[in-house]
Amino acid sequence: MSQVATSPAETPQPLVALTEDEQLFRENIRQFADETVRPHVKEMDEKGVFERSLIDQFFQLGIMAIETPEQYGGGGGTFFEAILAVEELSRVDASAGVIVDVQNTLVANAFLRWGTEEQKKKFLGKMATGTVGAYALSEAGSGSDAFALTTKAELKGSDYVLNGRKLWITNGKEAGIFILFATIDPSAGYKGITAFVVEKDFPGFSVGKKEDKLGIRASSTCELILEDCRVPKENVLGEVGKGYKIAIETLNEGRIGIGAQMLGVARGAWEYAVKYAQERKQFGQTISNFQGIQFQIAQMATEIEAVRMMVYNAARMKDAGMNFVKEAAMTKLFASQVAERVSSLCVEIYGGYGFTRDYPVEKYFRDSKIGKIYEGTSNMQLATIAKLVMGGK
Ligand SMILES: Cc1cc2nc3c(=O)[nH]c(=O)nc-3n(C[C@H](O)[C@H](O)[C@H](O)COP(=O)(O)OP(=O)(O)OC[C@H]3O[C@@H](n4cnc5c(N)ncnc54)[C@H](O)[C@@H]3O)c2cc1C
Repeated sequence: MSQVATSPAETPQPLVALTEDEQLFRENIRQFADETVRPHVKEMDEKGVFERSLIDQFFQLGIMAIETPEQYGGGGGTFFEAILAVEELSRVDASAGVIVDVQNTLVANAFLRWGTEEQKKKFLGKMATGTVGAYALSEAGSGSDAFALTTKAELKGSDYVLNGRKLWITNGKEAGIFILFATIDPSAGYKGITAFVVEKDFPGFSVGKKEDKLGIRASSTCELILEDCRVPKENVLGEVGKGYKIAIETLNEGRIGIGAQMLGVARGAWEYAVKYAQERKQFGQTISNFQGIQFQIAQMATEIEAVRMMVYNAARMKDAGMNFVKEAAMTKLFASQVAERVSSLCVEIYGGYGFTRDYPVEKYFRDSKIGKIYEGTSNMQLATIAKLVMGGK
């Protein structure tokens, strides 16, 4: 068998290998999540409200602008680091994970790729120093078929006037900046879709009902109402009529973030279950002595490791400038399946206690469910994967 000789510097690194900076970054976030976020998790879930002081600390830690270049006030980091942050936060609380995920992988990412210099200075600057971002594509009638949206934008003088409603918008309650998709011409289909930057205090903009949800309860999910909302022309992101491209491409990246969120959820639940199994006694011994429990723990660990490889690989591909569309869809699909399966099994390992709110694992199970729904349902991921692996046939 012929082998290509490579110098040590050229030898591809194992997927689990992290640089020293990445290890330090991950350690800081893990510690912050354990010590600062964890004490609030139960109460935030019960109340359905995210503790504002934690969001302020996300900003202080620099995890709300991880990839944003230093010249705009950000950390100048990588997409991979953003993924590590989402994973580590979600291991403790998936709501914390998604707040940071939307900020970095969707909103900041869209500005980085399509913003003008002015927009980057203005909006990325704000998003690095205290302003939360949100990404508003879905509507009551358009979810999987996102480009059937009906929110309308009409050019009047130097402003676009927006009318319509958005639904399910993560960070809706906390956000000051919204990347919001509307159509300038419903008859043009997807070619009318345009991305606008809407600020919370624009006249005609308001935040409507907040959803009461099964999982990620502390993350706000809100309706947005646009009634003759005036948006200056210079707040078009990218080109008029090219919003569909922005939506598709940012969501491709976002899916790796949801994969990381689900990886964190699976890990968090698994860690609790392993600890519990080593404490709970039945038949005069800890249940971890039973091979039936050991095999379940081993199977879950294996699936979590497979997800980790997929998430890290997709994120590294993105940072390397490679085409990662298939890998991102596969990652989100599989990570959400594993998170649901693992967290469900962890409830069983806790027995009856796992079924109560006095123990942490039922929350992981509830939180896992969203992974199969947002940023494209599992069926939509399968459709993308099928198209790519079958070469359009
Ligand atoms: C908690 C939460 C947070 C969210 N955050 C945001 C956000 O920040 N921004 C945003 O824009 N949106 C957000 N969403 C919306 C989310 O992206 C949509 O809910 C999702 O895309 C599914 O759309 P839908 O709910 O309209 O379901 P539908 O599209 O109506 O789907 C219903 C079912 O039909 C299936 N289906 C639909 N079409 C097909 C098809 N062609 N082939 C096979 N099966 C199909 C789906 O897989 C699903 O099982 C959020 C949703 C939730 C619940």
